[in-house]
Amino acid sequence: MAKIISVANQKGGVGKTTTAINLAAGLAKAGRSALVIDVDPQCNATSGLGVEPAQRHPLLAGRPLAESVVETSQPKLFVLPGSQSLADADALSASNRQRASTLRQQLNGELSGYDFVFLDCPPSLGQLTRAALGASAEVYIPIQCEYFAMEGLSQIIDLARQTKAKDNHRLEIGGIVLTMYDPALDLANEVAEEVRGYFEETVFDTLIPRDVHISEAPSHGVSVLDYSPRARGAWAYAELAMEVIDRE
Ligand code: ADP
Ligand code: MG
Repeated sequence: MAKIISVANQKGGVGKTTTAINLAAGLAKAGRSALVIDVDPQCNATSGLGVEPAQRHPLLAGRPLAESVVETSQPKLFVLPGSQSLADADALSASNRQRASTLRQQLNGELSGYDFVFLDCPPSLGQLTRAALGASAEVYIPIQCEYFAMEGLSQIIDLARQTKAKDNHRLEIGGIVLTMYDPALDLANEVAEEVRGYFEETVFDTLIPRDVHISEAPSHGVSVLDYSPRARGAWAYAELAMEVIDRE
């Protein structure tokens, strides 16, 4: 059975898409099949894995999802392409709860053959993020090691708690990922310490460093693990994948 994980935070630019892509790639390298579902109308996860966005989002197309899954250039790494059409609020007219349960059934039923499924959420707490949380076993929350890192964190955590109470009793906060860490900055260390002090073992041990290779990889349509295997960023995501496997 696939483990379904939303990667969510309503703040933009904290490393959601980067984490979804590269963590999935790290798991695939470790022999676990991984599917990234692009739920963000900006389609960054799709293009970052070298795949064209879809005209109509596979989740709305009414066809079996498996037909829309694309294999990337890396073995065992797959993407369900995003589409700008998801931005159309009318496209999602059913009630939240119904949508979440339909999505959950769809994902569990049709995509059970993968070891991990990551839902790359948009930078908001709107319908799409709510539906994704409703369909997931866990949520991973990336946060940037910068000023105000903790600001707004309570909102995504509250939404996860509400979703758990109402729509999806099995949802857990599976992990907090510290991203864009710069060891030379006192501030980054302070932020990491503060987040760890507060959230304790929910925070992954692996710190994702700020690394230019990570930001360059998407324009080549591959993960940083394939773009620059020996870069610090590639090592870090491979290590994070190991931690995820250990937590199983
Ligand atoms: P989100 O999906 O949360 O909006 P992204 O994953 O798209 O955030 O990251 C925002 C920007 O920061 C992107 O340009 C990405 O390439 C860059 N980025 C993310 N993580 C790192 C990192 N560890 N080091 C350097 N650049 C990064
Ligand atoms: Mg994104």
